[in-house]
Amino acid sequence: MTSERNKGVGRFDLTGRVVLVTGASRGIGAALATALAESGASLVVGARKVENLQTTAEAVSQAGSPVLAVPLDVTDVASIEAAVDAATQRFGRLDGLVNNAGVEDVRPSFDVDETLWDRILDTNLKGAFFAAQAAGRAMRMNGSGSIVNIASLTSMVGVPTAVPYGSSKSGLLGMTRALAAEWAPVGIRVNAIAPGYFRTAMTDVFYENEDWRERMLGRIPMNRFGDLDDLAGAALFLASDASRYMTGQCIAIDGGFLASI
Ligand code: NDP
Repeated sequence: MTSERNKGVGRFDLTGRVVLVTGASRGIGAALATALAESGASLVVGARKVENLQTTAEAVSQAGSPVLAVPLDVTDVASIEAAVDAATQRFGRLDGLVNNAGVEDVRPSFDVDETLWDRILDTNLKGAFFAAQAAGRAMRMNGSGSIVNIASLTSMVGVPTAVPYGSSKSGLLGMTRALAAEWAPVGIRVNAIAPGYFRTAMTDVFYENEDWRERMLGRIPMNRFGDLDDLAGAALFLASDASRYMTGQCIAIDGGFLASI
């Protein structure tokens, strides 16, 4: 009985795996890095300023996992390649990538200028592609790997004033499917998670508005906003062998929001 139980839990075991999380200085990226460490992974955490990664690095260490903090700007392909090189130099391999770095800026579409469009698309879509490419090159050496792209409900639903963001996150799902199809033969799986409503630095401004909170809660069947820990199970599932026959898919974690529209 006990060994059967261990086998069940063992499917999610990430001991010996090395995972890079982009945008890990706070919010969802920090929470996922910690959750992956709690399942045994060694972590490489990246954000634009390495000093902002200290809290995440401490949480990963406290979970008992080795951690390397790297400066990483996903809008700069050379910076991405340097981060992946640092990861493979430190740990000798790379098994996982969580493409989490992202930016958002809501604005009526008539007011979107080229600078805003480029900033959002360069970070959320172009950055995610080149991170996948650099990580994929390292994973190809092992003949295995798992990439988890952090998408959004706006990947699936049209949200007014979020056109650049929604375009980037819809594109991210297209990229997830295309890379999944292309890289399955070399053993690299590519999936996505679409978080629903989670309060972070990115979204805090909405949560300050009581009317908005009431309206959104009315659209979430579970009648609560997400805790960052609600995302951990899906990330562990997709990063681990528990999902070994799954690629090109997206898991929404939204308290039932999508199911009810
Ligand atoms: P935060 O703003 O709290 O965190 C964003 C992270 O991305 C930070 O660590 C930031 O690090 C990093 N980042 C931003 N730009 C870059 C860059 N150019 N290069 C490297 N890192 C960068 O937001 P969330 O935690 O809420 O968002 C994380 C992801 O989840 C995003 O992709 C977001 O779109 C997605 N998401 C969030 C939802 C939510 O409800 N919160 C819902 C759906 C999706 P730093 O500034 O230190 O460089």
